[in-house]
Amino acid sequence: MAAHTGAGGTAVALWDHGGVTSTWVEPSNTATALLLLGRGSDPATERGVECPGDLPAPSDPDLVARATAAKAALGDRVFVLGHHYQRDEVIQFADVTGDSFKLAREAAARPQAEFIVFCGVHFMAESADILTSDAQQVVLPDLAAGCSMADMAALPQVENAWDVLTELGLAEHTVPVTYMNSSADIKGFVGRNGGVVCTSSNAKRALEWAYQQGEKVLFLPDQHLGRNTAVLEMGLSLDDCVLYDPHKPGGGLTAEQLREAKMILWRGHCSVHGRFTLDSVNDVRQRVPGVTVLVHPECRHEVVRAADLVGSTEYIIRTIEAAPAGSAWAVGTELNLVRRLALAHPDKKIMFLDRAVCYCSTMNRIDLPHLVWALEELVAGRVVNRITVDADTAHHARVALDQMLALPGA
Ligand code: SF4
Repeated sequence: MAAHTGAGGTAVALWDHGGVTSTWVEPSNTATALLLLGRGSDPATERGVECPGDLPAPSDPDLVARATAAKAALGDRVFVLGHHYQRDEVIQFADVTGDSFKLAREAAARPQAEFIVFCGVHFMAESADILTSDAQQVVLPDLAAGCSMADMAALPQVENAWDVLTELGLAEHTVPVTYMNSSADIKGFVGRNGGVVCTSSNAKRALEWAYQQGEKVLFLPDQHLGRNTAVLEMGLSLDDCVLYDPHKPGGGLTAEQLREAKMILWRGHCSVHGRFTLDSVNDVRQRVPGVTVLVHPECRHEVVRAADLVGSTEYIIRTIEAAPAGSAWAVGTELNLVRRLALAHPDKKIMFLDRAVCYCSTMNRIDLPHLVWALEELVAGRVVNRITVDADTAHHARVALDQMLALPGA
């Protein structure tokens, strides 16, 4: 393997594998500023919370040894979950990797594990707390690891929107559906109001169920997953969808628009997947003839339409694994995962869809120093950064999650 620095400081790595040379090109830095995180903001939000502990220095050469020792000392008492978008330095300590729902279910399937260390983001740790027993404690190594999409739908905003629908006599015909990537409060709201949670794998089945219960859907918080599923998989038209902006009175919509709509999309999006554009797709097709473009349904509608294949993180992984040697893939999802796929499949040409860096900056708050700190504190008998969901919210969120598990084919 050789590594060098490409034009503009871009790192390029080359692998020669059985005569096939695979190249990973690190995208250049983006001009867009990352979210400012971690300094003295409201702890009730999902981000901007200072770590209360004494973190080891990132330069400590013993971090890997310390994490290994702490994990060994805890044995079966700890179960470490690693989301697919997590850093390599952290993922190496994960007992299981997966998407958010798979990880929450894996935690629930390990009742002997007293401590669930969730290397993901806040809403995922909440789901794990909801699905695990009271005897299990869920730890998020850095409380600043939130999700910008989940933050785009706060409970008071959603309750206001529901009030708008109620005043128009529409709420009773509307079924709320929330993506897994939402706070426990929102899942609780949906459970309280006869709705369902969905993932990017089962959004179509969730919407089919919802339209059997009512005439309209309020889809939270990801407009793109809602629109892509409704239009590309359910046969609705773009005109059947309206966008509810929580920052405008009445969502910025007229009563008529709300009455006519079949799909009321919340104005939320993923700041990572929302970065891919139609230009990204056109550009890679020009640069790499014959490339297959594979994207996540959290991408914008025009990007999904222009792609060859669309599917959840698990679908993306399965598709790349099954691809023939020598095939070329441009993948539109988080960069850590795409890089790991490229490294794991040197016989295929796997590249990132965009030229710019596209990490989930909040997920990446969890680094090795935070993981070492959380594990060593557990060894010392102190549970840090525990994530808990109050009993009432957890009960109703569980209703919406159970409804998802009861979907046909679930
Ligand atoms: S990738 Fe997007 S949806 Fe997933 S945690 Fe990061 S901001 Fe949230």
